[in-house]
Amino acid sequence: MRIDLHTHSTASDGTEPPADLVVAARAAGLDVVALTDHDTTAGWGPAAAALPAGLTLVAGVELSCVTATAREQPIPLHVLGYLFDPRHEDFLAERRRLRESRVSRARLMVDRLAAAGLPVGWDRVHEQAAGGTVGRPHIGRVLVEAGVVRSVEEAFSRYLHSGSPYYVAKAETEVTAAVRLIRTAGGVPVFAHPLARRRGRVVTDEVIAEMAAAGLAGLEVDHPDHDEADRAHLRGLAAELGLLVTGSSDYHGANKAIRLGAYRTEPAVYEALVAQASGAHPIAA
Ligand code: AMP
Ligand code: ZN
Ligand code: FE
Ligand code: FE
Repeated sequence: MRIDLHTHSTASDGTEPPADLVVAARAAGLDVVALTDHDTTAGWGPAAAALPAGLTLVAGVELSCVTATAREQPIPLHVLGYLFDPRHEDFLAERRRLRESRVSRARLMVDRLAAAGLPVGWDRVHEQAAGGTVGRPHIGRVLVEAGVVRSVEEAFSRYLHSGSPYYVAKAETEVTAAVRLIRTAGGVPVFAHPLARRRGRVVTDEVIAEMAAAGLAGLEVDHPDHDEADRAHLRGLAAELGLLVTGSSDYHGANKAIRLGAYRTEPAVYEALVAQASGAHPIAA
């Protein structure tokens, strides 16, 4: 069984519609794919409706989180939630709050870039997002279109990274609250790319232990942003804390170079995750 538990569609900052993504996942030889768009479940329905024979869909989300403000400097981080009840009211309201904040934040970033003379406007960024959750990759694509940079990756390293003068923070859920909220909605929380250092500062083992105490199920260890040393460290920590170890591509279509299924999760881990879920079931065609 080939299992990839982290992908993005045009419901957030991927480049394929959810219906195309599931077809591409099967064509890439996957048996199970999780759709984990940022702060939204909008892709679940279209992905389920288009499921090709032989593919199982795990509906999920990648929630924008932050460490507690009591810490010296809050650190943004991502938590994957799988198979929760999408109608759970508190969780629904929280996802809406995060998405609304992303819009005002993206507008501010566009204003700052435009004020510096760069050819970007909100209308084009809004069009790029195509009704999905807006994010920095959409601003990046507009900079590519305008010929300012050659790739979204280059747009990040030059203009969009978190240390950039054009960067604006967005609303985020305190991470232990996020873990509890996902569990309350019947879902299974997994810490996405815990040591993705190129995105900025990463959390200490102590924060991961606090997340585990709040109900975290697993750590995403095999991920394109982790080197061998990171993976070894995270495997040790997962064993110590009794957490599952997942692997995923974090596929974003043309916005990143990584291919579907480039990193995968062991079938036994997948079975263990599904066994913990009570909000939704995996869907098979
Ligand atoms: P945002 O959610 O708007 O803060 O944008 C962050 C998202 O941009 C991440 O979830 C990644 O999908 C993507 N991203 C972060 N860093 C890079 C990068 N260097 N190149 C391409 N995409 C990136
Ligand atoms: Zn993304
Ligand atoms: Fe992420
Ligand atoms: Fe992601």
